[in-house]
Amino acid sequence: MAGTTVNDLVDGEPLVIAAFRATLKAYDGTEVEFAKANEVRGYEKKEALKLLMSSTRGVESEAIDQAEVDLVYKTFEAELEKLSCRINSEIEGTSSLFQELRGRGIKVCVGSGFPEHVVESIVKNLGWSVDGFFSSANLGAGRPDPIMIHAAMKSCGVESPERVVKIGDTKVDVEEGKNAKAWTVSVLTGTQPREKLEAAGPDFIIESVAELTNLLKHLAKGFAKLQEMLWQKRSRTHSPSQLYGTLSKFARHLFRDSDQQDAQELLAYLLDGLHEDLNLVQVERKDHRKKESEPKVDSDEEDERMAQLEREKGEEYVAALTWMKHLMRHKSVLVDLFQGQLRSRLTCNTCGHQSKTFDPYLYIALPVHYGMNSLQDALLHFLKEEHLTGDERWRCPKCKKRVDSVKKIDLWKLPPVLLVHLKRFEFDTSTCRFKKINVRLRTPLSIDLSSYVSSQQKGSLVYDVIAVANHIGHAGRGHYTAICRHHLHNRFYHFNDTDVHEVRADDNEVITREAYLLFLMRRDISDWEAQSISRPEAWPHYVSRQNSAMMPAIWEAVGRKPQQPAPHAPAPAVVLPEQPNEEPGPPGEPDLSDRHGSRGGPCNVGSYFACHNLA
Ligand SMILES: [Zn+2]
Repeated sequence: MAGTTVNDLVDGEPLVIAAFRATLKAYDGTEVEFAKANEVRGYEKKEALKLLMSSTRGVESEAIDQAEVDLVYKTFEAELEKLSCRINSEIEGTSSLFQELRGRGIKVCVGSGFPEHVVESIVKNLGWSVDGFFSSANLGAGRPDPIMIHAAMKSCGVESPERVVKIGDTKVDVEEGKNAKAWTVSVLTGTQPREKLEAAGPDFIIESVAELTNLLKHLAKGFAKLQEMLWQKRSRTHSPSQLYGTLSKFARHLFRDSDQQDAQELLAYLLDGLHEDLNLVQVERKDHRKKESEPKVDSDEEDERMAQLEREKGEEYVAALTWMKHLMRHKSVLVDLFQGQLRSRLTCNTCGHQSKTFDPYLYIALPVHYGMNSLQDALLHFLKEEHLTGDERWRCPKCKKRVDSVKKIDLWKLPPVLLVHLKRFEFDTSTCRFKKINVRLRTPLSIDLSSYVSSQQKGSLVYDVIAVANHIGHAGRGHYTAICRHHLHNRFYHFNDTDVHEVRADDNEVITREAYLLFLMRRDISDWEAQSISRPEAWPHYVSRQNSAMMPAIWEAVGRKPQQPAPHAPAPAVVLPEQPNEEPGPPGEPDLSDRHGSRGGPCNVGSYFACHNLA
């Protein structure tokens, strides 16, 4: 807190240091030097006082009587309280950071070595809205003990420390974060110099908390940098080192030496991460926050409500309503380009009751089995009814018990760019190992998917294969390459580390038994639009401003009166170069008048799959 988020200077001296010095002066007249008090700044306060007492007296800290420490601590509390009333300014940018983070759904907690009532009064004085505040004095152990981080995780319902970032201005803050196995960020707004913080080895060092969101957007920046390079003629070879550096820092789990590296995991991480970085929904709507604090609606009741709505207004309406709720939280170019909607239904074999949901997806994962010959086989298998029996039985809310049931997934809406993961790795229970299913799925380079979708679609359903990520090798060890179509002259290139060569635009050449990820682009992709709640005409659903059935729900969601037409939302801010002024990577004669040329079309996607041997 102090030095990181609170500007705690009292007469030019940080609050806690002033309080330490005033305490020992008041207790027995000892003058403590500023530097000495600064040394113990981040420690639990009793521990800090004990260290100061021992060092000023020239004895080991074990020689200091705990009862005396407790007595001195009483003086400290009084001095601190006196001085803390004078704290009323935050480190610049803290409030807006908290607001932005919480708007993104990230929980924010503050921790301090000050007693809880002091923490509470500072939080209140500064008008912060946070998810919790913790005091090591009250929890009974100080930094570097990770007790405050653990308490914050518990109160926020966060289980994995890999999802926690500890920010602090002292060395002991870094140690505390590391002890909790959380990410650590050091800020330079405290009194400790960069060298000292560096020595503690934080994951990042930034000037101040105000820079934290820049750190959060590193993935988008690294990706943008790569795109910028690819679309300029400066060099014939490009290194994805910046993106790789960012990924290996933020997503260490993707590059652990002992694990096999999976291109699909990387893709999923990139899609999620880029979406998070580019998500334009930053601030929670007031009504949304209100809903969150209300008791959770029972899912059976919700099912019933949706079933009723479907009876009244039809299935497409319910699907669109679910989509709208999704757009209230998620609005990015990733949603516009890659996100589609699935319908999942569970039907009870006993009473016939059905539970139905419409879920968004960024890619579809198709299990591959021996005996399959084509992508169509894999799609049909994915769409097949699944009988849930035995351990997999479903709990029917009508029968109020676990019953045999049927699960069915359908493709409700397809996105402009459809990403397909061919799940070739299967866990073999007889050997307790993953094995790779090496079958070739024949796929025409253009495929009409209309017979695989369950609702009417707005655009054409003819998709072209524009890129393929290949996995060569077996389950334990392998190598990745990519085959990508050059967007502007439609030639295919095979990218294999430093070797890039053209391949025939023939499905035998482009889609081999190694194909692992497929990138399919809708033929009429030029009409994709930025979606927002108030523009239903841009959604993949058959609802629009003209088709007024949806409008009452939209007006309610955006909190406007029905009479007011909802204004058009701005186009999404894409962190990519405005217009390339030179031709992209592979040779050719690009037509740069193409309006999507600058968007970093997925045709380049293969080039940044960093190559790693699976080990
Ligand atoms: Zn039932």
